[in-house]
Amino acid sequence: MEESDSVSDATAVADSHSIRIPAPAATGRSLCERADRMTETEFQIVKSIGFVLAFALAVAIQRFRPHRTLAGSWQTNSQLWALNALVLGVACAGCACTVSRWAMDAGLGLLNQDVMLAGLAIPISLLGMDLVSYFWHRANHQLRFLWRFHQAHHSDPDFTVTTALRFHPGELLLALPVRLLAVVILGVPIAGVIVFEVIFAFANFCVHGNIDLTEKIERLLGGVLITPALHRRHHGRESRLLDTNYGTIFSFWDRLFGSYGESRSDVRIDTGLPGLESALGAMEILTLPARGTFRGR
Ligand SMILES: [Zn+2]
Ligand SMILES: [Zn+2]
Repeated sequence: MEESDSVSDATAVADSHSIRIPAPAATGRSLCERADRMTETEFQIVKSIGFVLAFALAVAIQRFRPHRTLAGSWQTNSQLWALNALVLGVACAGCACTVSRWAMDAGLGLLNQDVMLAGLAIPISLLGMDLVSYFWHRANHQLRFLWRFHQAHHSDPDFTVTTALRFHPGELLLALPVRLLAVVILGVPIAGVIVFEVIFAFANFCVHGNIDLTEKIERLLGGVLITPALHRRHHGRESRLLDTNYGTIFSFWDRLFGSYGESRSDVRIDTGLPGLESALGAMEILTLPARGTFRGR
């Protein structure tokens, strides 16, 4: 922050007699306004720190409350993650920041139109982006072309935190313009992008966790949020289970749009891709879209 800014933020000097009047904007400099000044590099650093903390916390919960004994496919999953980080992370990790700033400067998007709505920018961004993610995930199951890529995520025979890292780069490249378009249409501010991406990463790690919740916590969280048991059902090897529970953060989208499927921690679900028995290596996963569609029906 420049010195002149900090002076005008703190007080307004009224006249040469130095009568100081508190500047109204000073007390209300919001998180959004501060984040708007962020560079793409700072955005990537904050996002990366959030990502690492989210992963560490989800792994700790998984260790503390394991659902069953699983070796996990962490080697294959981390190889895919490294490739995806290279393909997307380096090339476009700051894209959402750039697009958000561009939409703000151009006065585009819902949250850039209305001052009243702008006050609720963070919760609206979180809800709106999670809703877009719900429909994008649903489209990945319902459109055969998208399923060719998304089935890589479902091909993990073990269901653990690192399953959240298992994506075909093709799916992430296809998802990128959808997410960026959502940022523009909603007018998501940079702070909203950061809050969404960090909470989404944490939710994504947790819902893939080999985690058991107590019945009480399951009931309490499941009313609003996707729990590991709800997403475990989505990864069920039985094809009828696949088309339920598309949400990542909030479970009410599934209830609202008729895709909710009940599940609890004490339900044993065999996870994996219907019709695919062998565990795949990273190279085999990369060629999976060309090998057809595994749906079990
Ligand atoms: Zn899915
Ligand atoms: Zn999943």
